[in-house]
Amino acid sequence: MTKVPGIDRLLANNRSWAEETERTRPGFFAHLAQQQTPGYLWIGCADSRVPANEIVGLEPGELFVHRNVANLIQNADLNALSVLQFAVDVLKVKHIIVCGHYGCSGVRAALHDMRLGVAEHWIRPVRDICECHRHELDMLPTETARVNRLCELNVMQQVRNVCRNPIIQDAWRRGQKLAVHSWVYGLEDGLVRPLGPTVAGVKSFDELGASYLMRGAF
Ligand SMILES: [Zn+2]
Repeated sequence: MTKVPGIDRLLANNRSWAEETERTRPGFFAHLAQQQTPGYLWIGCADSRVPANEIVGLEPGELFVHRNVANLIQNADLNALSVLQFAVDVLKVKHIIVCGHYGCSGVRAALHDMRLGVAEHWIRPVRDICECHRHELDMLPTETARVNRLCELNVMQQVRNVCRNPIIQDAWRRGQKLAVHSWVYGLEDGLVRPLGPTVAGVKSFDELGASYLMRGAF
């Protein structure tokens, strides 16, 4: 077979991983192939430095993952909505974690209104969040602080989008146990920081107030 530099290493790594896993935990893959019952849906950034499973120490089968640039949940995004519905209605996950990260390139691009082609359209919602909080952001002393605060505000807005989504609202109304968490991850220390209280139902979301997350009141 033709050698493909840069790819052969990955295939070799895969064989080693599969062999080692099966050696230490016989039947692991056969068991996993039967069904998946993850308790968590992860909505995170596509950034290669934010590997969902590793960060929270979960194994294959434990975390249902959706990632895109700047961890956005938009109403017209069929990909994200399909993931959300499958996770909630079929897998019946108990927790949805929206996890942004400091130093996010997508968020930075939105802050600076950079020309990015198609990606510029994708991150438009972050630009809108930036406009809403322009005064607060302008008060911050450094560019890094502004980017990082916008990363937090973006997570809050995406949590709000998740909580207001009919898939989630319907699940809560029929009594399904489902909690939504807002997290931000630090690239420099590998630590997750919860940004605010968990939202665990229509009542709890209503109690927070529809504008709660947008006000950045965490
Ligand atoms: Zn990012």
